[in-house]
Amino acid sequence: MVSLTFYGGVEEIGGNKILLQDGDVRVWLDFGQSFTMGQDYYTGWLQPRGVNGLGDYFEFNLLPRLPGLYSEDQLMNTELRYMEPSYDGVFITHAHFDHVNHIYFLDPRIPVYTGTGTKLFMEAMERTSPYTAYGEHYYQSFRTGDRIEVGPLEIEPVHVDHSIPAAYGFIIHTSEGSLVYTGDLRVHGPKHQMTQEFLEAAEYVEPLAMVSEGTRMELRGRRKNLSEAQVRRGVIEVCNQAEREGKVVFYTHGPRDMDRLRTFSVAAESCGRQIVVTPKTAHLLHRLVEDEQLNLPDPLRDDLVAVYFRRKKSGEYNERDYYLWEREFLDAMVTSKDLRARPMDFLVSLGFTSFTELIDISPEPGSHFIYSMSEPFGEESLEDQVMRNWLDHFGLRYHQLHASGHMSRGELIEAIGRVKPKKLFPIHTENPELFNRFHKKVVIPVLGKRYRV
Ligand SMILES: [Zn+2]
Repeated sequence: MVSLTFYGGVEEIGGNKILLQDGDVRVWLDFGQSFTMGQDYYTGWLQPRGVNGLGDYFEFNLLPRLPGLYSEDQLMNTELRYMEPSYDGVFITHAHFDHVNHIYFLDPRIPVYTGTGTKLFMEAMERTSPYTAYGEHYYQSFRTGDRIEVGPLEIEPVHVDHSIPAAYGFIIHTSEGSLVYTGDLRVHGPKHQMTQEFLEAAEYVEPLAMVSEGTRMELRGRRKNLSEAQVRRGVIEVCNQAEREGKVVFYTHGPRDMDRLRTFSVAAESCGRQIVVTPKTAHLLHRLVEDEQLNLPDPLRDDLVAVYFRRKKSGEYNERDYYLWEREFLDAMVTSKDLRARPMDFLVSLGFTSFTELIDISPEPGSHFIYSMSEPFGEESLEDQVMRNWLDHFGLRYHQLHASGHMSRGELIEAIGRVKPKKLFPIHTENPELFNRFHKKVVIPVLGKRYRV
């Protein structure tokens, strides 16, 4: 018997953890963390303690208590007894938090399969972020065209376009027929051809079942959405305006969205500005140029990219103030002084948590700030209000320019209509019931329930 059990991504966007069983072979499709995990009990600095392993998670049922899954260390302070691993692999579609983060807890002997680019990404995140750790694993990497055999299963990763490089969907051949798992994907991005190839492969196998994301399956789209090319044109327009006024332009986008970074760097080049990134982004870029297909600028070789250094410890930009991985980019350094002296030369990445730099930069009123993420500015959250206060204080003009990482409702309907799965499992969505409107056999998963495919 072939079955699917959903331990995450159920009636919520993110946290995908899907168990696929074929006879006694068991593999996971993604093992991510929900964006809302534990929010009833943990908030701000009140977080699960590392020292208590899974204890602080099991207390509130935040992860499934399954034997043979977790590492011995993580189980030390729990009632679940450690057992030899009884799962055969974890297949990760892409390096977003909500698809990969919880592999940290897994038994290191369970193989973790990722795309080659995904592995580079994860290494760069671990190196530069004190809050990112994936743990020790037996990693295996794949590319499109590979076929990975695990017992009776044969898993075929196929590249897709999403808001992070090296994203994949899976075509899975089981002993009873084929399954399709979309991961996250879009058809309006710069690499839409890759998603088309995935959908073509999915259609070809006439799948028994499709596990589909549905982030934007909503009756009325709440979010303004552009294509990547429209974002680029918008950024160029803002830069041209800033040119006439002699002003600096700031922007912020999802830190892992390399398509967006490329968009900003192309726009900067065509406006005769340098793009200014954080040391963290510089490190990520420098790692990702190993993958030539991504066509990204290298901050160590490309004059188009400058790296913004904050004052640390000594307050005087001394080399020893910075991490080793940051020091590599000191030759490309710009500081608040440079931005103040030559505002028209730069297009500057400025994330919310770096807004204090504005005090040093002291931009002229009427300078520009491009918000290139999905959350609509102006919603009632505290963070939005704080952002608004800072923009008002410095007289920054706000622009929102964003292209989503996900298919729209219409595009989802079209994609599923094309693949024609016999059964459809909607996940990674707040509105699974809407899938009933255009597919005859929708199974809305219940958390932890096992479904035959
Ligand atoms: Zn994603």
